[in-house]
Amino acid sequence: MYARRDIFKLGLSGASMAAGATLLPGLGKAQGYLGAQGFWGAPGGLGPREVAVHNLHTGESISAIYFDRGRYVQDALDAMNHVMRDYRTGEIHEMQPQLFDLWHTIRDVTGSRRPFQIISGYRSPETNAMLHETTNGVAQNSYHMKGMASDIRLEDVELSHLHSAALAIGRGGVGYYPSSDFVHVDVGPVRHWG
Ligand SMILES: [Zn+2]
Repeated sequence: MYARRDIFKLGLSGASMAAGATLLPGLGKAQGYLGAQGFWGAPGGLGPREVAVHNLHTGESISAIYFDRGRYVQDALDAMNHVMRDYRTGEIHEMQPQLFDLWHTIRDVTGSRRPFQIISGYRSPETNAMLHETTNGVAQNSYHMKGMASDIRLEDVELSHLHSAALAIGRGGVGYYPSSDFVHVDVGPVRHWG
């Protein structure tokens, strides 16, 4: 007998991006973003965009309007950079705000009301090299080192649904790690694995 998560894994193994996308009821909505808002556009146009995260390693939470009236809000970005820092070394790195736009879209597509739980945000080169040596699936040139990647989960969205949503949105990289209970999303080139 398979656990529920294993069934989803079997269903998605070898699936193309399009096949993964058909699992998501809100697909039409996700596709709509590509045309109407531009490649990195987020729902809501130039109006306020909120980001809410809970860093599982540090216990820190933040909720902030990071974009308003057509521009990113620097104070909010600075606060986000702090919460997304490499918790092992304390190093802070600028996160690409497009990552928050991607989260914003994911939240809209999934209908989540909860903060993103952060398993990993920025990683210093030292931390990434250490993880590359000791952990399967950690890339040597990870986008985590560029402030462009996050390992996330949502309390009120099943992991397989979060994964399908990220695939359906069709931006950046999407990695599926059901055994570790997170989805990797980044704002690098479009690709997917796991
Ligand atoms: Zn990752």
